[in-house]
Amino acid sequence: MIQLADVGEAAVVNRYLQRVPVDLDAMAADLGLEVERSPLSENIAGKLVRDARARAGYRIVINSRDSSRRQRFTFAHELAHYMLHRDLVDEVVDNALYRSPNLGDDMERQADRFAAQLLLPANEVRRAYAREKALARLAELFDVSDQALRIRLRELRLAP
Ligand SMILES: [Zn+2]
Repeated sequence: MIQLADVGEAAVVNRYLQRVPVDLDAMAADLGLEVERSPLSENIAGKLVRDARARAGYRIVINSRDSSRRQRFTFAHELAHYMLHRDLVDEVVDNALYRSPNLGDDMERQADRFAAQLLLPANEVRRAYAREKALARLAELFDVSDQALRIRLRELRLAP
């Protein structure tokens, strides 16, 4: 379960965390966000920008040149910025290391952690890991990179 200051938003998010791979497009649409996949410069992973046409007032832009699993991590990272940091900054432009000029490293780490919670919900990871230990198959199940999966398994104390 994800906790957010906005209880309604948390309810929407938690509904999508019950089925994997987590449907980020449906979650974003439900939150009122516009999502755009465009070829960006190779040192930009993604952005969160203002968009008056979006119900939520924001658009997430994902670098479509990246691999699909990396694009999913970018998507989740920008969703995290929207939910956690939108009142602090007007827009976020994340470089390839998921760092942006106008947010501190602690907030970027917070967005990374939150992204992992969205892509790899704790309950679902524990349940899947009880049946399946092969990293490649688990990564496929959640549609995440092996690296993101390994970090999350450590975080949940399921693997060393
Ligand atoms: Zn970021």
